Amino acid sequence: MAVNSTPDRPERPVATAARAPRRPRGEGQWALGHREPLNPNERMKKDDDPLNVRARIENIYAHGGFASIDPQDLRGRFRWWGLYTQRKAGIDGGRTAVLEPHELEDEFFMLRVRVDGGQLSLAQLRVVADISREFARDTADITDRQNIQYHWIRVEDMPEIWRRLESVGLQTTEACGDCPRIVLGSPVAGVARDELVDPTPAIDEIVRRYVGDKQYSNLPRKFKSSISWLVDTPYEANDIAFLGVDHPDHGPGFDVWVGGGLATNPMLAKRLGAWVPLAEVPDVWAGVVGIFRDYGYRRLRNRARLKFLVADWGVEKFREVLEKEYLGRALLDGPAPELPSRPIDHVGVHEQADGRYYVGAAPVVGRVSGTQLARLADVVAAHGSDRVRLTPYQKLLVLDVAPERTDSLVAALRGIGLEARPSAWRRGTMACTGIEYCKLAIVETKARGEELVARLEERLREFDADISIHINGCPNACARTQVADIGLKGQLVVGPDGRQVEGFQVHLGGGLGMAHGQTAGFGRKLRGLKTTAEELPGYVERVARRYLASRTEGE
Ligand code: SF4
Repeated sequence: MAVNSTPDRPERPVATAARAPRRPRGEGQWALGHREPLNPNERMKKDDDPLNVRARIENIYAHGGFASIDPQDLRGRFRWWGLYTQRKAGIDGGRTAVLEPHELEDEFFMLRVRVDGGQLSLAQLRVVADISREFARDTADITDRQNIQYHWIRVEDMPEIWRRLESVGLQTTEACGDCPRIVLGSPVAGVARDELVDPTPAIDEIVRRYVGDKQYSNLPRKFKSSISWLVDTPYEANDIAFLGVDHPDHGPGFDVWVGGGLATNPMLAKRLGAWVPLAEVPDVWAGVVGIFRDYGYRRLRNRARLKFLVADWGVEKFREVLEKEYLGRALLDGPAPELPSRPIDHVGVHEQADGRYYVGAAPVVGRVSGTQLARLADVVAAHGSDRVRLTPYQKLLVLDVAPERTDSLVAALRGIGLEARPSAWRRGTMACTGIEYCKLAIVETKARGEELVARLEERLREFDADISIHINGCPNACARTQVADIGLKGQLVVGPDGRQVEGFQVHLGGGLGMAHGQTAGFGRKLRGLKTTAEELPGYVERVARRYLASRTEGE
C-alpha cells in the first residue's frame, strides 16, 4: 500500500488581505495520514482490536454476567463476534430515537451465525437447531444475508455456543461490526445446471485467509460481499460482488462490481469492467477491502461505506488504484454478464446438473425455530440428503434429492411449515428483525409480514405474478426497501384519529437483478405515499388489484 504523507490537520491560515481558499476537511482516510480517530467508533476500534473481546467474554463476562461487561465492549466490540444487545420488550417505536442505548436494551443478545455461501451440512443444521432450543428460546431467523440469527442469548452461554458451533465448522467471527461480513453465495453453487464455475473455493479461501485477520478487522464500516455464478444474490447491493461471466478469450470467470449499499444514500454497485478467474478472486477481494480500509472515509459514520468513495473517485480511478497499489498488475478487461429479467430465488423443485433435484421452500418472512430446523434435519436425512442451503431471500433449499423422492419431500416440508409451492405473497415477502428485537426499529415487521401474507393469501390467492414486498422497521433498509416491487420503510405516520401510529413509507417499482429492462432501479418514493401498519394489507391488496386490472398483455 502506498501511503501519501498529506498532513491530517489543515495548515494554520496565514493572514493576508485576500482570504486563502479553505482546504477541505479530511474524510478521515488513513492513506492520507488521517490516523487520529475522529469519532467514538473509531476511538473504540483504535483502543483495542475488537477481535480481542472474545477472550474477555470467555474469561470474564461469561462468569460475571451482563452487569460485568464494559460498555465499550458491550455496544461496540461485541458485534465483531456476532453479538448485539436486543431491544427491551414493550418500548414503542416513538421512543427509539429519544432513549439512551442502555435504556433500550435488555440483558439478552441477538447472535448472528455466519453461513458463508449459505451452505449447511446436516450435522451443522442439527447443531444450529440444538443451540436454538437450548440457549435461544427456540428462536432462529434466516436473514436476507444467509445468516442464522438467534435471540435471547445470555453472555454466560457464549463459550458453550462457540464450542458447539466450532465443532462443526461454523463461526460467529465478524458476523457483525466494521469488518468483512458473511460472503453471500449462490444457494445452488456446485449443483446448478447452468453454472460454469462453482465459486465456493473462492468463498472458502476468503473466509479461511481473511475472516478474523487483524489486517482487516478495523474497516471504516461493514463490508458486504457476494460471489455467485448466477444472478441469485442481490449483488448490486454489496460493497463487492463477483458475478459469473464467460470471457470469449479466457473462458469462465467473474465480473467485478464495487460500491453498492442501500441504507442512507442508496447506491447500486458499479462494474469495474474487469474479468477475474476463480483463482484470483480472493486476491482481488483483499485488494478492494484494502482500499476500503486505507482510503475509506472514517470521519463521519454516515459516509463511511465504500459506496461514497466509489462515487467520489469513479470506477476508472478505483480500478487504477486497485491495480497499481494493491495488486501490482493490470486486470483483464471483461464482458458484461448476461442478466435475467428477475433475480432467481430457487423456490420449487429443480433438476441439478447431476440429474438429482433440489427443492427450495419458503418459511414465512424467514422465521423458523429450532424445533422446526430439527424436524427439517430429520426430513432431509430421511430423503437421503446431507446438504441444506440458505438463500438471501430468507428461503432454504434441500439439495441432492432423487427424482422419485421429490414429491415426498415437498409434502414432508409442508408438514413442518416450509412450503415449496408457496403463494406469490409468501414467496415474495421478506421482513427485517423489526421492533421485536432491534434497538433501531420504529415498527413491528415479522408479525406484520406474517399477517400480511395470511390476509393476501385469503383475499387474493389467485394472484399470478411475481411480486416482492420488503418490510423494514426503520430507514436502515436491512431488508432492502428500495429494490422491491413494494418496499416498505417503517416510520410513524398519522393515524385516522390524528395521533401518530406505526406505519410505512411506500417505495413502488424498485428492482434488483436488472428487473427493469436490464437496468436495476430504485423504487419511487412518492410524497404522501404512506400507510398505517393497520391498513397495510388493504393497501397492498389495492395496489395488486390495480396492477392486475391495468397490466398489459404478457406483463
Ligand atoms: Fe433494525 Fe431498521 Fe435494520 Fe430493521 S431495517 S433490522 S429495524 S436497523
